Amino acid sequence: MIPIAKPYMTADEASAAHDTILTGWITQGPKTAEFEQLFAEYTGARYAVAVSNCTTGLHLSMLVAGVGPGDEVICPSMSYIATSNSIKYVGGVPVFAEINPFNYNLDLTDTEKKITPKTKAILLVHQIGIPADIEAFQELASKYNLILIEDAACAIGSSYQGAKIGSHSDLVCFSFHPRKVISTGDGGMITTNNPAYCERLKLLRQHGMSVNDRIRHESKSLIFEDHVEVGYNYRMTDIQAAVGIEQLKKLDWIVEERRKIAHQYIEAFKDIPCIRMMSESEGDFLNYQSFSIYLNSQCAISRNEIMAQMLEAGIATRRGVMTVHREIAYKHECVGLELPISEDASDRSIIIPLYVPMEQKDIDYVINTFTAILSSAVVSN
Ligand SMILES: *Cc1c(COP(=O)(O)O)cnc(C)c1O
Repeated sequence: MIPIAKPYMTADEASAAHDTILTGWITQGPKTAEFEQLFAEYTGARYAVAVSNCTTGLHLSMLVAGVGPGDEVICPSMSYIATSNSIKYVGGVPVFAEINPFNYNLDLTDTEKKITPKTKAILLVHQIGIPADIEAFQELASKYNLILIEDAACAIGSSYQGAKIGSHSDLVCFSFHPRKVISTGDGGMITTNNPAYCERLKLLRQHGMSVNDRIRHESKSLIFEDHVEVGYNYRMTDIQAAVGIEQLKKLDWIVEERRKIAHQYIEAFKDIPCIRMMSESEGDFLNYQSFSIYLNSQCAISRNEIMAQMLEAGIATRRGVMTVHREIAYKHECVGLELPISEDASDRSIIIPLYVPMEQKDIDYVINTFTAILSSAVVSN
């Protein structure tokens, strides 16, 4: 069976975790601080704040952005459900805008249409690692005095107009879930260029404690902490951070390997008439966190039938990115909401295996199987 994804883990990560465990410092401490420093350097952001996962990072970002009860935040419906859930955690109202079908990211025009006097922020997702047009959204946000938050869960290693995702905004959230490009088991990171945000994020992730454990531990004099506001326990552990440090060393190589596989897919499928693949905008750089293929209405075979046939051939696939407004948790409040482009993109997309290392024979098998399924469908029709 060829899986859809696999984290790239080696003895380096295992021994980093092993060594950290034996230091006796196993929750947020020196390794977390080191990982933050390296992550900030990698992305080009001034600061990085490690958290327990991307969803908690998004929650804290909503808090520091000042999103509160009744405030509207514009985001795509076609995203993982954590995107809009993070708005709900603070009592905010997710307002779903359409996506651009060519890059699966928020549509600028529809986003502007959905701005009301209650809008507080825009939550811009870099879907499956494809950079959204950050500059255009920064302009829109400043025109209406809104805060721009980036959900970069899938986008570590991608670049927008020559600069790494993570460097452009004051609140950018990353995920280290195993399904993403690098992993710490679970885990997340927020990058920011704003020192006040950095400080408040660090408070909120650790119960609002004014002095963190590491500083107290290292202090030669007696210090007591205050709890200055109601915070959370959204810490990353040093075991995870030690793994993250090893993963970060390999990130550029992992991304290069992912790109080589993606380019093989693009070359192999370029003449199939009824599909459209992801493309890299000029000046951008994709990490290919997922390889998604859109099947247009000329396809003589349904997406689900392709998935069934791939599965029969021993190849795992996934549906395209979900739409939140059609999920049970949301649909009662989205009655009458029309998002035809998002629904179409979600319903007509298929994600095929891409992971590192992927054996050449497996890449070839995916290519040959997918091509055969699509061409037999055309003939039989
Ligand atoms: C994976 C993902 C998340 C959630 O990340 P976790 O680290 O699992 O919390 C949020 N947003 C998007 C777009 C994602 O793909």
